[in-house]
Amino acid sequence: MTSPARHSFSDPLNPTPNPALVSDDDRVAFWARQAGRLDWAEPWHTTHRFDRPRIIGQDDDGNPTYSVPEIAWFEGGKLNVAYNCVDRHVEAGRGNHVALYFEGEPGDQLVYTYADLQREVSRAANALLGLGVGKGDRVVIYLPVIPETVIITLACARIGAVHSLVFGGFSAEALKFRVEDTGAKVLVTTDGQNRRGKVVPVKADADEACTGENRIEHVIVVRRTSRPGNKQLAAGTRGSRSNDELEVPWTPGRDVWWHDLVKDASPVHEPESFDAETPLFIIYTSGTTGRPKGLVHTMGGYLVQTAYTHALLFDLLPDVEDGNGTLRPDELSTVNDPAKVDSTVHWCTADLAWVTAHTYEIYGPLVNGVSEVIYEGTPNTPHPGRHFEVIERYGVTNYYTAPTLIRSLMGAFPHGIPQIYNLSSIRLLGSVGESINPEAWRWLRHQIGRDEVPFVDTWWQSETGSCVASPRPHDPQFAPAGTFAAGTPRTTVKPGCATRAIPGVSVRVLDEAGREVGPDQQGLAVVDAIGPSMARTVWGDPQRYLNSYWAQYGERGWFLAGDGARTDAEGDLYILGRVDDVINVSGHRLSTIEIESALVTHPFVVEAGTTPVEDPLTGHAVLACVVLNDDGLALTETELHAELCAHVTREIGPIAKPREVVAVPDLPKTRSGKITRRLLAQLYEGKPLGDRSSLQNEEALDAIARAMADRR
Ligand code: ATP
Ligand code: MG
Repeated sequence: MTSPARHSFSDPLNPTPNPALVSDDDRVAFWARQAGRLDWAEPWHTTHRFDRPRIIGQDDDGNPTYSVPEIAWFEGGKLNVAYNCVDRHVEAGRGNHVALYFEGEPGDQLVYTYADLQREVSRAANALLGLGVGKGDRVVIYLPVIPETVIITLACARIGAVHSLVFGGFSAEALKFRVEDTGAKVLVTTDGQNRRGKVVPVKADADEACTGENRIEHVIVVRRTSRPGNKQLAAGTRGSRSNDELEVPWTPGRDVWWHDLVKDASPVHEPESFDAETPLFIIYTSGTTGRPKGLVHTMGGYLVQTAYTHALLFDLLPDVEDGNGTLRPDELSTVNDPAKVDSTVHWCTADLAWVTAHTYEIYGPLVNGVSEVIYEGTPNTPHPGRHFEVIERYGVTNYYTAPTLIRSLMGAFPHGIPQIYNLSSIRLLGSVGESINPEAWRWLRHQIGRDEVPFVDTWWQSETGSCVASPRPHDPQFAPAGTFAAGTPRTTVKPGCATRAIPGVSVRVLDEAGREVGPDQQGLAVVDAIGPSMARTVWGDPQRYLNSYWAQYGERGWFLAGDGARTDAEGDLYILGRVDDVINVSGHRLSTIEIESALVTHPFVVEAGTTPVEDPLTGHAVLACVVLNDDGLALTETELHAELCAHVTREIGPIAKPREVVAVPDLPKTRSGKITRRLLAQLYEGKPLGDRSSLQNEEALDAIARAMADRR
């Protein structure tokens, strides 16, 4: 365990230790206490059961083969997830508190209180039941970020149907895979979507996704682009204000308008209670490293860790005196501070279909009863300041976004954000999805966070269901000057540092054999003590669940996250990118993200993607693809290479110097904005390209290939 002293009870900077570091019993007891955040219809009899992988045989090479592990939390307990996210707030007298502020891309706005949400979710639950959807049925939700998406998702949870949200920007092919893989009974979609200022038809894609062998009985269509007040519906666009005139392809008997379905549905629905281990949703990974995996999350454990981590990371826990005369949130508290809850306006900018949004945009904020913003559109429609307008309009306090978005804001506002926006409501920033480059971290905290607000860099995955490691908003590194008594040691600000595991979970940096690696050594991020929101299986493919995550450490029962990591001398955790991306130059293991972070500090470089390419002498060499600004584009190839090599040598050392620097117009990215580094290497080496179904900008590949060919 790294630097246990940092987590001991006597540490003045960290009065609340990580229970995972105390004992397994304490960890399980911690989660049992946190489960008290929820309303349970029946108590559980077994807090936690973990059947670790067992050796069951040998493969052809003599290596052990293992049984698939089984994980359960709160067995015997019963609850209703939607009741916990909606009804109980109404029953507690907070029905008039705003749950959702919705803003559409064309500028339309809607507000839902918790009482509104209770009515709409109940109506939706009754409507789905009326269509024959029940417990265990899968419902694929292919919708943009609109209130119906949240309402239908919660309605599924309410009746025990398993939802699987699919990003509205995905192709028919990507949707088809998910419709077939889940064996869904119902697909929910829209007539059209607002995307980058245009109305884009959607229904035909949804129909195409249903052309193969599938179990779809109904396609529910939410009317979006024909909604009155949609300014995009000018002459010449598809669709029309009148329902009858909509040019929406229709299969009678199968297709149903959502508004027809809910029109007569009762706004009252008695929530049924389900066993804690009932599947809640299937989430497909982003597919950065290959074919997406459908991870299954269950009701009780998922909601417990989601509720707790949302409160911990987004500063809802009550303050206590920490023994040094300083007020600090109590990390072990099982309740929230009502004043903090009431004053929070949370905004997670992710599309609702990503795991980030499931946890910190749908379930987390709602289970904790805060107000939140959901915004339909792209960040730069109609202009790159759109997010700042949204922050100002709703008084957003928590802005939780992704490194790729921050880098694009930096590109759009090279001289800083204009003073015309009032961003003073912001009291916390956060990022997720990739390691954040220190440059981007500093920029956002300076531009929006006045150099003083906490910045939570939350490391987690679809697999872990909710956050695993992150700085705390109250860590001393974020404390305003004067908070701590004179002489109290203060850690330095650490941009891009995921810091340490949350309470009740443990993360270690290990080598492949499971040995601890020392400070500043690169190793594998391993979750050696899991929390209740860990995925229970891969849908339809338990063997893949075993092979991908558990087989590496076998009977020890440690979860292999697939990310490279290191700790610093203080024991704080840095995530270095995916293991598959690690660059090994003459035995030196280099992190893609560290080289990229160095490259983007150069004034000419807007974005960078690095990847290992084969080298006969050194094993790997570094290939750097860079997006340049005009100053950079003015250089010759030779000048650019010399300039960036000198820069990387200064920032990291000569070993990290790129062998090749290729100027490209754009980097290949997944729909969730992650750089797909393996494609850069495959293009460069002329190898067959792997899975591309998750790409948002396939056209970038041609341009990159041309840029590479031009260099030869
Ligand atoms: P696939 O597993 O199919 O390749 P994916 O890993 O991109 O897709 P997600 O579960 O959406 O799918 O993403 C989780 C990954 O995102 C993590 O494993 C990590 O690589 C990266 N990540 C998320 N948050 C952070 C963070 N704060 N710092 C560093 N990396 C992060
Ligand atoms: Mg992954």
